[in-house]
Amino acid sequence: MTEGLWSITPAEQKAAREVDARWGPLLADMSRGADARDAAGEPVPQHYFTEAAALGLQALSLPRAVGGEAMDPLTSALTMERIGYLCRENGFPLILGTRTIIAESLLASGRRDLTDRYVIPVARGELGIALAYSEDADAFSMRTTLRRSQSGYLLSGHKAFTTGGLLADVFLVYANDGAGDIAACLVHREDPGVTVNALDPVGNRTSGPASLDLRDVPLSQDRIVTDGDGISHAQRLLNARRLTVCCASLGQARALVELSAARLGTTVRHGQPLSDLPNVQAALGRMYIAVETARAMLYRAARRATDDEADLFFDPLVSAAKHRMTDCVRSVVEESLQVLGGHFYYGDPYFGICLRDFTGLVAAAGTQNLLEVNLGALAATSLPDPDGPGHVGAPRKDNTPA
Ligand SMILES: Cc1cc2nc3c(=O)[nH]c(=O)nc-3n(C[C@H](O)[C@H](O)[C@H](O)COP(=O)(O)OP(=O)(O)OC[C@H]3O[C@@H](n4cnc5c(N)ncnc54)[C@H](O)[C@@H]3O)c2cc1C
Repeated sequence: MTEGLWSITPAEQKAAREVDARWGPLLADMSRGADARDAAGEPVPQHYFTEAAALGLQALSLPRAVGGEAMDPLTSALTMERIGYLCRENGFPLILGTRTIIAESLLASGRRDLTDRYVIPVARGELGIALAYSEDADAFSMRTTLRRSQSGYLLSGHKAFTTGGLLADVFLVYANDGAGDIAACLVHREDPGVTVNALDPVGNRTSGPASLDLRDVPLSQDRIVTDGDGISHAQRLLNARRLTVCCASLGQARALVELSAARLGTTVRHGQPLSDLPNVQAALGRMYIAVETARAMLYRAARRATDDEADLFFDPLVSAAKHRMTDCVRSVVEESLQVLGGHFYYGDPYFGICLRDFTGLVAAAGTQNLLEVNLGALAATSLPDPDGPGHVGAPRKDNTPA
């Protein structure tokens, strides 16, 4: 089946219909103020998250028992893609995705107190939660430190980038435990010693980005999510984030292809619309190929997660999909710049917003460069069985003919 140019399976069509019917008006309302918020660097207003939660949009993949929609990873991906396609407010899906992943991670702890205090209020849109991992250091050199005190713990340090930090009531903070390990803990915005600072980033300017200063923040034992092997804890969370972080951008890229084609059909040069010129058609063709390539990668990775076949800590296909999707959506916006000329730069601000927002995907949830290194290292060490299928005729280990 096709929707215009786009291939669309019944599952994709169902997800799109559901998003349009349930959340279309809310997303349209959010879209209206998006360009002005981006220009001003204002975060998407909190009331949209509360309204989204009332409509069941806050916690797509969380189980019903905690107020979620119990969507499998593939349906969640299709839903987020459609949200990106419909909504010009790019900050909303970015924050939504981060909050959901953190809630999933807390739920996975199996602790009832964390579920009641954090997971259910996040699902209801009553609580903002943000991830405070990055701090301009590698995981083994974190300067944010959690140390024992007489009554519990004290947390000190600085976290450099947290998406949705300006709207967050709670932060999931990773810290050096002083004994060569990493701990994960929950810090409330109103805890003594916590300062949240607004950032002025290149893109994703409506996603409430913030840095966090932590000065001898007192924490009780119940705020400690894990007091050892926090690296595995973070890896699991970041692996899950890699699957979802590009989904909305993919929908946005599709919208850019359509916006570009519409504009090119009405721009006349030398007596004919630009869309009649073969070089312009080739650019649109490359944009289409990029979007469908990214969709194919995403759906395969999401299907693997849906079938419980993905590695929970570092799934190669999920990482490859995040890498490819990032390159694809960035190529769409670059192609668009080539054929739209000044309109891209001075006309509809959405083109520039996407150019800047898509750039953030290069670093978000693991840089493209590091994913290549990690995947290459895996490829170098995970050699297939020389006698396995596809290797018929390959030299055997003992050099005897196959
Ligand atoms: C849009 C966006 C949203 C984000 N949201 C959050 C958030 O909510 N919470 C949060 O904690 N962080 C967030 N981040 C931060 C993001 O997770 C980090 O930027 C990312 O993990 C990379 O860390 P870094 O910036 O310190 O880069 P660096 O570690 O300095 O890496 C930069 C480059 O150095 C090289 N390099 C680094 N280490 C190695 C190595 N071991 N081997 C080889 N080369 C290496 C690679 O080329 C790499 O690309 C966000 C970032 C963006 C852009």
